[in-house]
Amino acid sequence: MSVATTTLAPAIALEHVSKSYPGGVLALDDVTLDVEPGTFLAVMGPSGSGKSTLMHCAAGLDTPTTGRICIAGDEIGGLDENRRTELRRDRIGFVFQAYNLVPSLSVMDNITLPLRLAGRRPDPAWLASLVARVGLADRLAHRPAELSGGQQQRAAIARALVAQPAVVFADEPTGALDLQSAHDVLTLLRELVEELHQTVVMVTHDPSAAAQAHQTLVMADGRIVDTVRRPSAADLAARLVALTEA
Ligand code: ADP
Repeated sequence: MSVATTTLAPAIALEHVSKSYPGGVLALDDVTLDVEPGTFLAVMGPSGSGKSTLMHCAAGLDTPTTGRICIAGDEIGGLDENRRTELRRDRIGFVFQAYNLVPSLSVMDNITLPLRLAGRRPDPAWLASLVARVGLADRLAHRPAELSGGQQQRAAIARALVAQPAVVFADEPTGALDLQSAHDVLTLLRELVEELHQTVVMVTHDPSAAAQAHQTLVMADGRIVDTVRRPSAADLAARLVALTEA
């Protein structure tokens, strides 16, 4: 009897990716990286180390100068602008520091917006479980301005997850939140990663945020200089201080 084995493509794969900007800045310097599905990955590093460039290239918002990037096995370099826009809409979710909810839409309409843009109907059972899971079932008719910052970010997380994308990119998702709300949002993100086998890549300056991740990449000068599994906040803070002082 033969046993079939399936090998899942990495959620994100970067092969020898470099990005230079006019003026000679090498923002990414030969980065190779596989992110396995279901991973919560944090990206840290000093300002200017290439974190945003890495995220923008991996999300198809910017194009690398050289190298190859695949999302769930599909190479994004070969796609024209329309196909890349579709890929971002259908396969990638985003969570931003400033939530970026549409002020005139209800919480429910904000959460389901990615599906409507893709011409897809939400599965009612999935939607109900998602809004309950992020703790907003009794806030769905409200406008974003009527919610706390933590609630707005939880709505933004539900919006990022609603289409069950291959990857969610979170850019400083707790940067605008008080300590308790930040802790709640990070715990929710980690639990969703584990329950739904969702892949999340989070750029953060905050070692205690990165400590919630499964794995943290530390960047410096456009390169990955450290990969730490299940780091403590104190360990990460010490590594960052060492880099800044180097
Ligand atoms: P980080 O997110 O870690 O702060 P970035 O990815 O924003 O780092 O920047 C990496 C490097 O690339 C920096 O030296 C930055 O000044 C440079 N850079 C970023 N965007 C541009 C751009 N559009 N044009 C020129 N240089 C840029």
